[in-house]
Amino acid sequence: MAEILVLVEHAEGTVKKVTLELLTKARALGEPAAVFVGPGFDAAKERLAEYGATTVYVAEAADLTGYVVAPVAELLAKLVADQAPAAVLLASSADGKEIAGRLAIKTGSGVLTDAVDVHDGLVAEQSIFGGSTVVKSTVTQGTPIVTMRPNSTPPVPAGSPAAAERVDVQVKVSDAGKLAKVIDQVTVEQSSRPELTEAAIVVSGGRGVGSADNFALIEGLADALGAAVGASRAATDAGWYPHQHQVGQTGKTVSPQLYIACGISGAIQHRAGMQTSKTIVAINKDAEAPIFELVDYGVVGDLHQVIPQLTAEIAKRQA
Ligand SMILES: Cc1cc2nc3c(=O)[nH]c(=O)nc-3n(C[C@H](O)[C@H](O)[C@H](O)COP(=O)(O)OP(=O)(O)OC[C@H]3O[C@@H](n4cnc5c(N)ncnc54)[C@H](O)[C@@H]3O)c2cc1C
Repeated sequence: MAEILVLVEHAEGTVKKVTLELLTKARALGEPAAVFVGPGFDAAKERLAEYGATTVYVAEAADLTGYVVAPVAELLAKLVADQAPAAVLLASSADGKEIAGRLAIKTGSGVLTDAVDVHDGLVAEQSIFGGSTVVKSTVTQGTPIVTMRPNSTPPVPAGSPAAAERVDVQVKVSDAGKLAKVIDQVTVEQSSRPELTEAAIVVSGGRGVGSADNFALIEGLADALGAAVGASRAATDAGWYPHQHQVGQTGKTVSPQLYIACGISGAIQHRAGMQTSKTIVAINKDAEAPIFELVDYGVVGDLHQVIPQLTAEIAKRQA
């Protein structure tokens, strides 16, 4: 069976959930082989084995981590040439999509981004126009390169752990690949909430929240549900919530099981970042707000009244 290469996203060996999703999907398509860049393989090995990685191509050279994404695309291009995998799967993160695009150019292959599923025959499924249209596409040239949205498929461990056999890979990064250097790394302060793009539930607030202080309501509901907090651009531009929580065209793309939009009108640029969420709930005092065209459940009401009641009810049921 041909290998399906999966680029591992990790923080010093802690493997991100989206990678476990990709490995789960890769098992259905061929033989999963992980590509691990940077230090931390020992910490990650067990997790990768648990999710079925038979082989892990490990590249630790400083050249690969000291520069922005270009060297990783060069590494993957080498693996595509040497191993002739059936496909390459990456996360639909900012880095994942940029690496995928560069890899496609280097290998003369087709690339499909933001897939929500990949079926037999490497048919990628994308969800567009507010989730109203499903597009199924295949790559017809080169090695199929597919980026998948986080939360598109549940991560399921393999029946029995695979070998996760380490294969060291050396790559000579070109001068062009070293043009954008990493000069500093800043660790974003971690909240106890899940990471926005990986969370199974997201509660977002918009202009209707009214103030930075009122975001405590959104956080309270999020905490009751174990959710991440998102925000519309109107809310982040107003300085009510940090920009890294913005959902939408110029923010993050999320695809959780449940998305609760509070005081958000549903502008097309906001929808672009959340329309593939599995279940969408909106709380808005305007029954004509465009967000209601998209929702599975809508509550017409003042969020300052609805959210405290909802949070209290959830807490009561959890007690
Ligand atoms: C190039 C470009 C890129 C953009 N990128 C993004 C992006 O990435 N993400 C994004 O979100 N936007 C983006 N925008 C902005 C987008 O067009 C909208 O302006 C923005 O999404 C509106 O945010 P909002 O829904 O919070 O505010 P509004 O459109 O002002 O809606 C507020 C809603 O709150 C409701 N409301 C008010 N008070 C209450 C209350 N007490 N209880 C309940 N409901 C209440 C109102 O009925 C209204 O529907 C972009 C725009 C451009 C031009």
